[in-house]
Amino acid sequence: MNANRVISDLRELAARTGTADGAQRLAWGPVWRQAREWFRGKVGEIGLRIETDAAGNNWATLPGASPKTVIVGSHLDSVPNGGWLDGALGMMAALEALRMHAAAAPPVTLKLVDWADEEGARFGRSLLGSSAAAGSLRIDEVKDLTDRQGTRLVDALAENGVTLDRMGDAQRQLKAIDARAYLELHIEQGPVLESMRKPTGVVLGTFGVERHMLRFTGQAAHSGSTPIPMRRDAFLAAAQTALACRDIATRHSKPGAGVVCTVGVVNVEPKIVTAVPGVCEISLDQRALDPAVLSAMLRDAHEAAEKAAKANNVKVEWRHVWCIEPRPFDPGLIKLCEEAVREETGDAPRLPSGPLHDAAEMVPHMPVVMMFAYSSNGLSHCKEEDTPVGHLETTVRAFLRLVQKTVAHVARTA
Ligand SMILES: [Zn+2]
Repeated sequence: MNANRVISDLRELAARTGTADGAQRLAWGPVWRQAREWFRGKVGEIGLRIETDAAGNNWATLPGASPKTVIVGSHLDSVPNGGWLDGALGMMAALEALRMHAAAAPPVTLKLVDWADEEGARFGRSLLGSSAAAGSLRIDEVKDLTDRQGTRLVDALAENGVTLDRMGDAQRQLKAIDARAYLELHIEQGPVLESMRKPTGVVLGTFGVERHMLRFTGQAAHSGSTPIPMRRDAFLAAAQTALACRDIATRHSKPGAGVVCTVGVVNVEPKIVTAVPGVCEISLDQRALDPAVLSAMLRDAHEAAEKAAKANNVKVEWRHVWCIEPRPFDPGLIKLCEEAVREETGDAPRLPSGPLHDAAEMVPHMPVVMMFAYSSNGLSHCKEEDTPVGHLETTVRAFLRLVQKTVAHVARTA
């Protein structure tokens, strides 16, 4: 196990593909291709080849005594002015896992995967490559996407040898693998491990999301002439709902099973200092790992909005924006992950993932688990993204232990 080598690889990648403003590996662009070429060289050093699937995902295979396969991976792409660890940490740790097992023929097959366009930073669709492989990408939803320069997704893909209409073929390529586990190391990108003073965490799954727009409609009226009890103030109803939703989230949070909710958008009409708002629209984004908790939170939010609407003599309409079900990870792999983290750090804190990851796309297809490394100040997607070197080394060692344990576990099972 060589955690130092993982860190020197990360530094080398950052020096080659970053600027003073941070990482610049935007998917489908020249710097990203350069990063992948460099990575191809690293994989070549252990005598393995990179193969690209129909969705542009890069794979390397270390054949073992059995075709039963353990997949390790993450992504090399970054947001513009991104951090040096997001995605890259998981890729360098996956590379080290292959190096570690290449020395002696492993009992099962190991595959490394570099998912294409995890971030969706250029075209707005996250998890593009992994969702194509998982069969959850709908081509008609992405075929007209363009970036800020007006470049079409279909042309950016073609520049990289990927045909949009055929991206779904990656599904067949994934199904052909006798996949028994998917393991991903990632930085937490939030402040939870830091607040617990723990370098490494066991990830229980990715949050489910319920996202809606709520439109409150009352009556715009003169702010000087309309007595408060006679108003139909749409903003006040929205504001009461927002506060109630925060209380709902607090009520449904348990230690180790936190939930979140956010009102990120507020629009009022007519937006005049001398008018009572006649219309107010707010966004509501609720997230939880337990599907029953998520649906209870949504039900409670409906009740709270009705109550606030009634109190202010306005009406409320809901518009569904987007949702995804929670993706809990595999209990068996969570247990192995706990063992690995505990052996390395003396403790095994468990936490859910608020952000989505490629691992979430693999959940319907194979047992999955993720491990998180501490994020300094909880920051990510910016040049300040960092993890203390000691914590990085500890986490990498814990992850390599997890790979070893998983390989041994898969070798034992039929
Ligand atoms: Zn990432």
